Amino acid sequence: MQNTAPPLSSNALSAHALPSYLQAEKLGPWGIYLQQIDRVTPYLGHLARWVETLKRPKRALIVDVPIELDNGTIAHFEGYRVQHNTSRGPGKGGVRFHQDVTLSEVMALSAWMSIKNAAVNVPYGGAKGGIRVDPKTLSHAELERLTRRYTSEIGIIIGPNKDIPAPDVNTNEQIMSWMMDTYSMNTGSTATGVVTGKPVDLGGSLGRREATGRGVFTVGVEAMRRSDMRVDGARVAVQGFGNVGGIAAKLFVEAGAKLVAVQDHSGSIFNSLGIDVPALLRHVQHTGGVADFAGAEVLAKDEFWGVDCEIMIPAALEGQIHAGNAAQIKAKLVIEGANGPTTPEADDILNDKGVLVLPDVIANAGGVTVSYFEWVQDFSSFFWSEDEINARLVRIMQEAFAGVWQVAQDHKVSLRTATFIIACQRILHAREMRGLYP
Ligand code: GLU
Repeated sequence: MQNTAPPLSSNALSAHALPSYLQAEKLGPWGIYLQQIDRVTPYLGHLARWVETLKRPKRALIVDVPIELDNGTIAHFEGYRVQHNTSRGPGKGGVRFHQDVTLSEVMALSAWMSIKNAAVNVPYGGAKGGIRVDPKTLSHAELERLTRRYTSEIGIIIGPNKDIPAPDVNTNEQIMSWMMDTYSMNTGSTATGVVTGKPVDLGGSLGRREATGRGVFTVGVEAMRRSDMRVDGARVAVQGFGNVGGIAAKLFVEAGAKLVAVQDHSGSIFNSLGIDVPALLRHVQHTGGVADFAGAEVLAKDEFWGVDCEIMIPAALEGQIHAGNAAQIKAKLVIEGANGPTTPEADDILNDKGVLVLPDVIANAGGVTVSYFEWVQDFSSFFWSEDEINARLVRIMQEAFAGVWQVAQDHKVSLRTATFIIACQRILHAREMRGLYP
């Protein structure tokens, strides 16, 4: 008798089956991204014909990064650069140095860059890179050798018109300087536009360092304005107190909000009367973390998500708000400063509870928006004032958010799905207009 269910292997052979490393079963970050694409597909109309494009990175490079350690031994690290999509322009996205970096993670982060860049309508595709390394275990000289060798290895696919890296978790202006220098040495001329997030003296842009936090604050205020929430007196809890969380907290407090809880890799702290943000920023700069800050009490790690507050800002790593802790969240507004901090199950739990989630792909797009300004300034060798940069950033973020809000109302969908609708339509429209080559 004929078996009605096709054997598994025939599925793998079908023209539309995804290669094994792209499939969702093992729900890593890439699996989460694929679920997000499935949720948006019904809203794409005739462009759904092209949606498969979004389920496969255009190009993924895995590189071996060998370096000589200070003690004379040789160490090998695995590095990646993934260009998810280049339909709307060159690849663009950060480089992450972290001990947990995987190909699945870099693929997902590159795809979220495609969505983010399209959501704020900057003329880029999406890309991301990373090295699986704990940079805290390396000396300054080892970190430089690692960065330079990695840049040389990915040098065949990056460039000011091809793919432009930037800072991400554990990478900074110094690392961007080494990347720019290595690429320039290899190609024979100084190419400031090959990376963004550089020091201001080396073709960097004013306002870039604060841009992601400023964008988080800007969309947060826009969402509050539309949902009858007041910034003045609002209690804020932040996970991660670096460039994103620290700056967002500072701007919210300057606007009258109160920072009541902070969690980072070193510990969790709480003060119902409000934490002194400039003092905490100084403490973190000196000690590397929020632990042992005198102006707050210690909070148990698990209690952070249940803190009484109106605004919760996850600004650290992926998967922090999950099915196991989402129900504890008391905030009315979650602003995703990090990339991918909320799992799809947690998204549903928050939605059912009536918590408004401002998704990463719009909420943290301020960083890449000012990266775009930096790249434009490098090409024209004409640099703008900080006021001009901030004003243009705020305008782009406000306009993008207004569009997302409108689509969410029109289709009665979450802000995440609304952002994906806008972004996927832009990407797939470009894909359709360009057509297939050859
Ligand atoms: N790493 C940042 C992000 O995830 C910035 C990327 C960029 O500026 O290219 O959005």
